[in-house]
Amino acid sequence: MSTEREELVRAALEFGKKAFPEDRPPGEAEGEFNRTGWKQLAEFGLFGMPVPAEYGGLGLGLGDVIAVMETLGYAIADQGLLFSANAHLWTNVIPVLIYGTAQQKQEYLPRMASGEWIGANAGSEPDAGSDIFAMRTRAVKTDTSYVLNGTKTFCTNAQVADVFVAYATLDPALGPMGITSFVVPRDTPGVAVGKHIDKMGLRTSPMGEVIFEDCEIPLANRLGREGRGAQVFECAMEWERGCILANCLGVMRRQLEKAIAHCQTRKQFGKSIGKFQSVANRIVDMKLRLETCRPLVRRIGELKDAGKDASLEAAMAKLYVSECYVKSSLDLIQLFGGYGYTTEQGVERDLRDAVGSTLYSGTSEIQRNIIAKCLGL
Ligand SMILES: Cc1cc2nc3c(=O)[nH]c(=O)nc-3n(C[C@H](O)[C@H](O)[C@H](O)COP(=O)(O)OP(=O)(O)OC[C@H]3O[C@@H](n4cnc5c(N)ncnc54)[C@H](O)[C@@H]3O)c2cc1C
Repeated sequence: MSTEREELVRAALEFGKKAFPEDRPPGEAEGEFNRTGWKQLAEFGLFGMPVPAEYGGLGLGLGDVIAVMETLGYAIADQGLLFSANAHLWTNVIPVLIYGTAQQKQEYLPRMASGEWIGANAGSEPDAGSDIFAMRTRAVKTDTSYVLNGTKTFCTNAQVADVFVAYATLDPALGPMGITSFVVPRDTPGVAVGKHIDKMGLRTSPMGEVIFEDCEIPLANRLGREGRGAQVFECAMEWERGCILANCLGVMRRQLEKAIAHCQTRKQFGKSIGKFQSVANRIVDMKLRLETCRPLVRRIGELKDAGKDASLEAAMAKLYVSECYVKSSLDLIQLFGGYGYTTEQGVERDLRDAVGSTLYSGTSEIQRNIIAKCLGL
């Protein structure tokens, strides 16, 4: 790791521990978004890290951002807040940075990079999840605008969002070639945020429906070319799949430390439980998972910083890290015995958070399909 990156990681650790000293996320049971926490992340500069200085960002490489994310995942208990931050970065900031016109970048990036505006991704629909390009939300073009009609679901940040990167089809018969993407500010007439969707984990990250009803969007708000929204979506997913689990590496590191400390001090049958081989082996597996996951995520940083495609590597990282995260969360509960099953220890929360990682940004099955396709199958 370069000295600069080490310095950045040190600063992230210090910031995370100081700004978020709690062992459990405030408002977790109630599913409350931590707006103060969002502002603290913004002040730290997180949302501008991959954004060039001309738009108010820090212009860091992705490798640096991933290192910071891993550290924040380790230091901060509120994984829901970090999940919201990831959704904002990879599905709003990055697509606008890559596909935005000069005017769109000037208009949106400074507000997104400063964290003043929170972004949400409006892609999934009730009947278009894994089969995302079967979406029904329609965009009808007029001389001056596109008019959107349709309902999106599972939108992370929906209730707190100031802007949506939304996808709609100009003609369902065109399949993926009909999909077009748009930047839609929340206050556009015809945009409504529907019901809150409660969920088992990542509870402090809001999720909801977004409804477009005769929502008229200026032509200038189309993101990327007409009929090329699938490309924008795939690009956002490549970045999201590759980077969203960097925080989880930090959680897995924290889990390992917690497991070791517990198994060294908890005594049964007259000795610390870590002395039982079947107990120790679980910790060995947790260590192996962490060490095999980390290079997969770091590789995404290297590839994107070199301007290379990382579709295959991002799918592999997403699949492998999410499944390891679930296994290590289960192991931690087992190591804590009955105490692990109580809410008092907080280790059950990791499992609830981890299960989501095998679903969002494309399920494990979909990642396997992508990998198989990349292998020519
Ligand atoms: C925490 C969380 C946050 C999310 N945030 C967002 C967001 O911000 N914006 C957004 O647009 N969406 C978001 N989503 C939605 C997410 O992208 C979808 O849940 C996901 O793509 C799966 O779609 P689905 O839930 O409709 O499941 P389905 O597509 O109905 O899948 C059900 C099951 O069938 C399997 N399956 C489906 N097709 C295939 C296939 N071809 N081969 C093998 N197996 C298959 C799936 O793997 C799964 O096990 C979020 C989801 C979660 C859980």
